[in-house]
Formats: sequence, C-alpha cells, structure tokens
Amino acid sequence: MAALPHILVIEDSEDDRDLYERFLRDETSLITMAEAGEEGIARYRQAPADGVLLDFNLPGHDGLSILDRLRAIDPYVAVVMMTGEGSQDIAVAAMKAGASDYVVKDTITAATLKRALTNAIDKARLLRQLAEQQREQVNFIRVLVHDIRAPLRGLTAFTDILAEDLEAGIHDDLLDHLGMIKTSALRLNALIDTLAHYALLDKEPIFDEVDMNGVVDQAVANLKTEIEGSRADVTYGALPAVTGHEPQLVQLLQNLIGNGIKYCEAATPMVRIEAEADGEGNWLLSVTDNGIGIPEAKQQTVFEPFQRLWSQDVYEGTGLGLAICRKIVERHDGRIWCESEEGSGSRFFLTLPAASLLESAADLPPRSKQAVHG
Ligand code: ADP
Repeated sequence: MAALPHILVIEDSEDDRDLYERFLRDETSLITMAEAGEEGIARYRQAPADGVLLDFNLPGHDGLSILDRLRAIDPYVAVVMMTGEGSQDIAVAAMKAGASDYVVKDTITAATLKRALTNAIDKARLLRQLAEQQREQVNFIRVLVHDIRAPLRGLTAFTDILAEDLEAGIHDDLLDHLGMIKTSALRLNALIDTLAHYALLDKEPIFDEVDMNGVVDQAVANLKTEIEGSRADVTYGALPAVTGHEPQLVQLLQNLIGNGIKYCEAATPMVRIEAEADGEGNWLLSVTDNGIGIPEAKQQTVFEPFQRLWSQDVYEGTGLGLAICRKIVERHDGRIWCESEEGSGSRFFLTLPAASLLESAADLPPRSKQAVHG
C-alpha cells in the first residue's frame, strides 16, 4: 500500500514535475499534476488532495497568493512550499502564511520530499481534529449552560413562590413547593455528577484483560434499585474477556442496561446482553431491550451530548449517558451504534478489542443464562 495518499503538484516546470513524479510514484496512491496556479486551485476544488506540493515561483502568481486561495477553500490544506536556494525569507513567509512545510528545490531528495509531505499531512490532520474538538467543546458548553439553567430556574421560581405564600400566610402548598425545589436540586446534582464522569473520561485509561461477565455483574449490582423497582429481567449469555478499563466498561454497560429499563413501558422490561466474535480480533456485544424504541432519524444523534427525546417530566435524564458510552467505546478503539423499531425495542451494538487475538466465539466457556429480577 502506498505510504502517501492523494498528492496534488502545482508546478510550471515540466522537469520538476517529472522529478516529483519519479520521487513520489511508488509512494502515493494518486498524483494529480497542475501546470499553473489557477489550474491547481480548480483541481483542488474538484478533488481536495491530502497534500499539495506548491511551487513558489509560478508564472503570473507567487505561491503565497495561491496558498491563500487554497486556504480559503480549506483552512487545513496540507501545503509543502517548493522554494529556490537561498530563499530563507520566502520559506519563513510561506510558513507564516499557513504552509505546513517547505523544501528547497536544489537540495531535494525522494526522502526529504516524502518526509515533508508526511509531516504536512499529519500536521493538517491534527489541526483539523483540534478545530473539530474546539467546535464540539463550544457546543457542549452552550447546551450545558442551557441545561443547568433549567433546574436553576426551577429553584428560584419555587423559592419565590414559597416566600410569597409564607408572607401571605398560605400554607396549603408548602410541601408541594418544597418537593419541587428538591426535585430541581436533585436534577442539578445528577447533571453535575454525570458531567464529572464525562470529564474524567479524558484521563488516559490503563487497559487490562477484563472479564465481561464480571462487568455485567457489577453493572447489574449498581442498578439493583432500578431493576427491583421495575421488576426487570436482565439476562446474558457467556461473555468474553476483552482488553479494556474495567470501571469504564462497567459504566458503559450500566448506562445501556439502565436505559433499556428506563425507556420501557412493558410490564416486564427485558434486557439481554450477548457477544459474538467479529472475525477481526474484536468482540461484537449487543444490548437488546423491549422498550419504547428510538425513531430512525434520531438513532445517531442520541449519542451526542445532551440529545434527549423526552422532557424531564416524562423520563428523567441528563442526556449524557450515551455520549459517555460513545466516549468509552472510542477510547477502546471500538464503535457503538443502535438499531431500533419504535414501540418494539432497541438494540445497541458495540465493538471491543478481544483480550487475546487467538480467542474466538467458539472458545467461550459454556455458561448458563443468568436472570436478575426483583
Ligand atoms: P438520558 O440521560 O436522557 O437517558 P442518554 O444519553 O442515555 O441520556 O440517552 C439519550 C436519549 O436517547 C434519551 O433521552 C432517550 O430519549 C434515548 N434513549 C437512550 N436509550 C434508549 C433506549 N434503550 N430506548 C429508547 N430510547 C433510548
């Protein structure tokens, strides 16, 4: 497989284009050639390359103006500026203008060209990721502020009403209003607790071999009150060992099982956890419930922070449970998604790396189903 992805060369000299072609031929999956600045911009617009080799001395333009225009199309374009000997100032100007790297033409070798392109592409990828994270953070804080205001508004409003009633000597609804104040305070508390969990997930976890049977046992024990209160049946077959961080995996299963019980109107909520090998060194785990289901249009957005489908009065929640699950699974290099039919239930799938690549579904020890209910 080629080490470099799609490279666009913007270079007017045929000799130089031939040289770059020769240097990069065996290293890239695709090279596109452009002989002039305008052509290069048009080609980039048509099919954005992963890396661009840009000649500084193009007829009618300098490389900086072309760089500006490429950056207007994509602020994170990975550009390596090709400069002449002794043009230190140009190189500095190019870097300031947003080039990822530069190469002096006269000293060029296949290795320097490849290294410059690889670094430029890596740098651009990191900057893009950083910008995406910043966007997510801003959005997260915006929604968080909104969600914190709701219970706070409840607290202020009901304390005001309480004060007015007390002043007027009306005592009929005192307990009701105190109850509402407590509910708002508890919601705020739950939000802050979950938020702390979410933030702590940014710490680098230490991975170990983890028995998923033990993980589900712990998750079920933590959900004892909910399971007994709803008389839910939580069952699971023989589960494998995975490579992971046990406390995070317990949190993951607890959130999924907890949701299966919470978003359910059946007389007996049923949640089943199963696992099979995916044939690529991972385990595919599924958590199936007989709950209210999730409309197809929302099956992806529910994994975003604070995306809730119901108001607090219908189902209590912070909207962070599945975002936490996604973060945990991604930390384990896995994927999480759901399939669901409104009214009949949901099935959450997640992949986790196997504890040993030699292990397969056939190696699972025979184990009887476990049922837990109140
Ligand atoms: P919450 O704290 O609201 O439960 P989550 O992030 O865990 O937040 O879930 C986001 C939303 O996805 C929930 O508010 C709910 O509408 C929906 N949801 C999650 N799990 C299920 C499920 N098993 N069945 C039906 N709806 C679900």
